[in-house]
Amino acid sequence: MSTAHHYAITGMHCAGCVASVERALQAVPGVNTASVSLADETVIVDGQAANDDVIQAIADVGYQARVLASEEDEADKLREDDDRYRSMIRRSIVAGVVGFPLMALGMAGYLPGLDNQTVWLAIAALSLGVLIYSGGDAYLAAWQSAKRLRADMHTLIALGTGAAWLFSLMLVVIPGLFEGMSQHAYFEAAAIILCLINFGNALELKVKRNTGEAIRRLILLQPSKATVVRDGEDVEVDVADIQSGDVLRVRPGDRVPVDGEITKGESTIDESMLTGESLPVDKAPGDTVSAGTMNQSGSFLFVAERVGSETALSQIISLVRNAQASKPAIGRMVDRVAEVFVPAVIAVAVMTFLAWTWVAGEITPIAIVTSMTVLIIACPCALGLATPISITVGIGKAAEYGALIRNGDALQQAATLDTIVLDKTGTVTRGEPEVNAVVAFGDTSQDAVVQFAASLEQGSEHPLARAILAANSSALLDVDSFEAANGLGVTAQIEGQRYRLGNLKFVNQTLNIEAPDEALTLESQGQTVLYLASDEKLVGIIGAADQARDDSASAIRRLRQLGMEVMLLTGDNQATADAIAAEVGIDRVLANVMPGDKAATIEKLQSEGRKVAMVGDGINDAPALVQADVGFAMSMGSDVAIESADVTLMRGSVSVVADAIEISRAALTNIKQNLFGAFIYNTLGIPVAAGIAYPLLGVLLNPMIAGGAMAMSSVTVVSNANRLRLFKPTASQALD
Ligand code: ADP
Ligand code: MG
Repeated sequence: MSTAHHYAITGMHCAGCVASVERALQAVPGVNTASVSLADETVIVDGQAANDDVIQAIADVGYQARVLASEEDEADKLREDDDRYRSMIRRSIVAGVVGFPLMALGMAGYLPGLDNQTVWLAIAALSLGVLIYSGGDAYLAAWQSAKRLRADMHTLIALGTGAAWLFSLMLVVIPGLFEGMSQHAYFEAAAIILCLINFGNALELKVKRNTGEAIRRLILLQPSKATVVRDGEDVEVDVADIQSGDVLRVRPGDRVPVDGEITKGESTIDESMLTGESLPVDKAPGDTVSAGTMNQSGSFLFVAERVGSETALSQIISLVRNAQASKPAIGRMVDRVAEVFVPAVIAVAVMTFLAWTWVAGEITPIAIVTSMTVLIIACPCALGLATPISITVGIGKAAEYGALIRNGDALQQAATLDTIVLDKTGTVTRGEPEVNAVVAFGDTSQDAVVQFAASLEQGSEHPLARAILAANSSALLDVDSFEAANGLGVTAQIEGQRYRLGNLKFVNQTLNIEAPDEALTLESQGQTVLYLASDEKLVGIIGAADQARDDSASAIRRLRQLGMEVMLLTGDNQATADAIAAEVGIDRVLANVMPGDKAATIEKLQSEGRKVAMVGDGINDAPALVQADVGFAMSMGSDVAIESADVTLMRGSVSVVADAIEISRAALTNIKQNLFGAFIYNTLGIPVAAGIAYPLLGVLLNPMIAGGAMAMSSVTVVSNANRLRLFKPTASQALD
């Protein structure tokens, strides 16, 4: 089935790292796609490649990877994150303990002049220790990049702090080097920069961890133990060992361990974790249950059908995870910028150095300090984190509300929609029509009309067929040469005579009749009218009413408040569709649309310049879902395998569409804020660091402040993305 493998990667910090890992993995034979999540520090590799090859390829470009298979591995990763957090804090403290007192002593005038070599060499040695302890990782990573002729965030940190230290050492060991200039060593600056950067990284890690909470919550839904009934006895087993076909016992308060069908007992089950539907659902033998849902009052036995990675819960987890790791168009654009960012910064630093040297006619401390500050202040990580963090939070949030967004592109598209096309049957309405009226013509009885209609519908899966079969109380007649005409009706022979059941267009393929008054009345009430006809005459009509879902009207009101134009699309006739549309507050109706024309209808709307969403139940609507800019497919709880949709709605409700759109908009706004912040920060910070304000105001940016600013810029981005976690779609009730 699924061939996606999930790996944890350590050592990635910026978009440059992401690009090089992805590129390396593309080159591995058997890899179809590789999608790195910087926020999560994981990669999902799709294809047949062996784990070892994947891990080796990642190691070759300088990072450590390992397979993430189960929840235990997941827990390991969390523990590792804790260790990394503590070690970053330690490094920050060590650097601070050396750097800050040195700075204070210097400012208070307690440090001797640079000609006191003994003292200054001791300080140089002490700060070298800090560089190695607190910056060793960065130097190593920078070196590994350099070997591959690449440059990343580590390169900037290593160059910046390394240059500060070397320059200071030169001042100490070669007295009189920059005669006449203010003599100032930057040992303490290098230490304080590392203190701040490590502190910033630690904060970032801490905040980043929260972004994956949606997934973690889903994983925790899966119980680890279950009770299997073997030879009449209850045996406790690991959920991982359950086979399909096992009979499992679920007691009150237990979580359902795998997907299956109830064989004995009754209960109510809270499925809100999967569907977002808050009301518990009654379950009896024959009903299906899903892994992760919560059994409430009753006790029951069920047969395991889908286990392991095949349960709906596992599929949801992998869908959300894949989506979180994917990048929207806006993110790919940023990645391209970020890739050239570091080389560009190095070039700016060199130019800064040359410019100041040229102005002074010799190498001066200003040239050194400014070029070093440029290296320190530039922050590619803020750029690299801006998109993926918000995507992770946004897609996780949408999942909490019952919308599984397939990828970052779908999220970006959903944020820019202006037109929503809603399928009528099963989307706006419940899709459970009931027969309300039967009219018989000639000498046929009403019961016979229903009996004939039900007999014709035996072989059909259509909701209308179910309604007619439910309304029938007579014995079904034998039928021959059954045929279903998609979007029209069904036909078959009964006792050698051919009958049709369907809409007016369908019976008029052989007849030539007008809609009778009874039909017009039913249609104006929003009922779907089915015509039963032989090849010669109309035998009867059946009116079936399909109730609008309880929240359709309020959801549509919300969509309109979001600025959407909402349309109803249906194969049903105009009058019926108009009646339903009026009930739920839609004013544009596209009726009598054959299943094959639904996609063309969407395309036509797109050619008017609209960004169109299609919401359907995913069966006959598949081509339209694909054609739409964003396709929303209704799925009832456990069936997540909706291939054609960009967004799968786990609950049959248009409200989820409104939720998903609101969340997408909030996520896109968040991404734009992050990017704006990161770009502004870098475009203002770099020139200031280069000393642009010096000729005008006589001030230079202190490299330590640059270090602090750089550390805080990525913390700011991550924190801003985390604000999204608090986002709540407007409740439809609140809009009344
Ligand atoms: P929708 O677009 O509302 O989901 P369909 O495209 O499935 O509807 O069907 C359009 C119309 O075709 C129905 O309103 C009905 O009149 C007719 N029809 C389709 N299938 C059947 C069937 N099995 N029995 C009777 N009528 C049918
Ligand atoms: Mg439909």
